[in-house]
Amino acid sequence: MHTLDNHLPTADLQALDAAHHLHPFTDSAELNDKGTRVITRADGVYLTDSDGKRLLDAMAGLWCVNIGYGRVELADAARRQMLQIPYYNTFFQTAHPPVIELAAGLADLAPGDLNRVFFAGSGSEANDTNIRMVRHYWASLDKPEKTVIISRENAYHGSTLGGASLGGMRAMHAQGGLPIANIEHIRQPYWYREGGDMSPAEFGLARARELEQAIARIGEDRVAAFIAEPVQGAGGVIIPPDSYWPEIQRICDEHEILLIVDEVICGFGRTGKWFGSQTYDIRPDIITLAKGLSSGYQPIGASILSDRVADGFIAHGGEFAHGYTYSGHPVACAVALENIRILREERIVETVADQTAPHLREKWLQLADHPLIGEARIAGMMGAIELVADKAGRRPFEASEGTIGLMCREHCFANGLVMRHVGDKMIISPPLVISKAEIDELLVLALKSLDDTLRDIHDKGLMKAAA
Ligand SMILES: *Cc1c(COP(=O)(O)O)cnc(C)c1O
Repeated sequence: MHTLDNHLPTADLQALDAAHHLHPFTDSAELNDKGTRVITRADGVYLTDSDGKRLLDAMAGLWCVNIGYGRVELADAARRQMLQIPYYNTFFQTAHPPVIELAAGLADLAPGDLNRVFFAGSGSEANDTNIRMVRHYWASLDKPEKTVIISRENAYHGSTLGGASLGGMRAMHAQGGLPIANIEHIRQPYWYREGGDMSPAEFGLARARELEQAIARIGEDRVAAFIAEPVQGAGGVIIPPDSYWPEIQRICDEHEILLIVDEVICGFGRTGKWFGSQTYDIRPDIITLAKGLSSGYQPIGASILSDRVADGFIAHGGEFAHGYTYSGHPVACAVALENIRILREERIVETVADQTAPHLREKWLQLADHPLIGEARIAGMMGAIELVADKAGRRPFEASEGTIGLMCREHCFANGLVMRHVGDKMIISPPLVISKAEIDELLVLALKSLDDTLRDIHDKGLMKAAA
């Protein structure tokens, strides 16, 4: 067996996958008819599938492989750590060097006075921690009735019971009896679809003020926190109008509630600064991290608390009856430390801000000239395009939402490009190390895929706007 082809033939892998593997967020009956795509190798910004086809990965896996694939240093860090001590817990008044060094390193990197870290195995787990943490925080300050967490429709905060309840995805709430109690949702700052006749600035203010209205309706004495992503990722790269975050910050400052900023996607350079909170000038009480924290090379998540929250929590909280077997897993911590070292020493975030993100922005926004595109938008290294039937009227297709997006995604795959569709939006979030030449290639492949989709739409008679 040679190393480049050390696997079963594609058809055999697909048959075994259909027989034994249940995929996340997947209609298994539909997938099993088609057969899964099997990715076998990756390097830089490119994937290779089991048939040897090369794909430019414009999604960095799932928004996570910020430093790109194939970094030997991370593999070496994992190997060294496994040999030294592969696992030990952090429950019994014990710790190990990687967890201590990573906590200190994150405190150093994180904005403002975010200085204390609670580790988890994923972003969902970290948000579950946040739910219990903020409720316990208020309870320990003798305000046990402050339990309600306000979130937003179409937000994504993970897929555990807690994470999915915080999230505002209707399809997720429809399964399994969600959301859990005392989670409330306000509407999202999604101007293109929901802004109507308002200017983006007016709309941003109006949507932010829904937070203040929700606090008034629920009662400030019952609200524990507001949680939001700086830019909604899985919801479709929804970039709020400039007026939105300053107004949210004002409302959080004027009311006794905590602000949890979910930086799982925006953290580690995605928006052109280390954290989305810096890009949008937000002062969080808690941030959630995962994904780019290890560039996806190991599963790890974290909650980082401000001094105010941590001091109250530590002084009055007693034992926090919460934690995960893999909280602060030494191998994951060692890999995250190495990932951060590389991001820093290779000045990857600075290169994004000064060179590659501006280049991507210029090209990406030009996609708005394409007949299928109603809007192109981008923040740093995350972008979206809205596929519409009627550009002038901002009207979607008559075909059920996602039909055209899925067609476009399939054309992208056929052309050697991974773009994701969210309904009829196409989104990108490439590895931060993508070069200008690779960005140019991404745009050539995207345009070809849009042309192929347009032809397909005409052939199938789908070029009709919804009423
Ligand atoms: C992916 C994501 C999560 C959940 O992270 P997992 O590691 O999948 O549990 C939470 N919040 C945001 C904003 C995410 O994008």
